[in-house]
Amino acid sequence: MIIDAHTHLYAEEVITNPVKFARKQKEDHWLQLVKPVKGKALQSWADRTEMLSQMKSDGVDRVILQGWYWENPDTCILQNDWYATWIQQDPQNFIGFMSIHSEIKDPLDELKRRQDQGFLGIGECHPWLQGRSPKDKVWFECMEFASQAGWPVTFHVTEPVGHDYPGRVPTPLDDFLWLAQEIPNLKIILAHAGGLFPFYELNPKIRSDLQNVYYDLAACPLLYDAKLYRKLIDVVGCQKILWGTDYPLRIFPKTQKRADFCSFKDFLLQETKLTENEAHAIFGGTLLSILP
Ligand SMILES: [Zn+2]
Repeated sequence: MIIDAHTHLYAEEVITNPVKFARKQKEDHWLQLVKPVKGKALQSWADRTEMLSQMKSDGVDRVILQGWYWENPDTCILQNDWYATWIQQDPQNFIGFMSIHSEIKDPLDELKRRQDQGFLGIGECHPWLQGRSPKDKVWFECMEFASQAGWPVTFHVTEPVGHDYPGRVPTPLDDFLWLAQEIPNLKIILAHAGGLFPFYELNPKIRSDLQNVYYDLAACPLLYDAKLYRKLIDVVGCQKILWGTDYPLRIFPKTQKRADFCSFKDFLLQETKLTENEAHAIFGGTLLSILP
């Protein structure tokens, strides 16, 4: 069973005209990322059918459909509606994570409604971009809900030191440590190798507080040297690492015209020379063990 822990999927209206969609929904930050004014766009697009056929040809059994940190609470509801349909159509392929925003009318109602529809987590979150932090009361209540439901929560993580790009908004690593300490049962997934946060697990004073923190590898080929993966395994162990692509992002822009799953899967297997146990954990075993 091979599972991609970090993908995104959009409705036809978005794929046909992302600019029109972003203007209508007032999603400037998202538009900056998918259609930057300067530089090449790394975003490619795939609808449900194309994604399913790409998964099949690349040997990927299931994917987490990650929501997005929309600026407009209404867009979160809209995306949750798309995902509710798609996870019902293809429950064996799609795992739904929902989008949240503290200004959704009744966030706890929305959480319960989506739980009934079969969602299994929250993500991809970026409360700071929405003008909040996990310490905000509403956010904290949502995190308590997730903890009680056994839901993992995926956070977008921006590395504290790194290259600048349009729309870069910090995600303070301190806040993740705080959250892990406040709700020790909450399963936290820090995306993009956690902005290298996992290396702080070398600090024995905080390591035990981070037992329920996991790291996905989404978009890592764009961000880091290939030496990263073996070092990550050495520091936190394969049981805390989840393979994910950020599909349909082109994470190997020099060689990919369109996004796929196999480029990163094969790259990781070859570069890191994973043992059978490591590959089992990273390509789905760990994720299955933390889903409710
Ligand atoms: Zn992200």
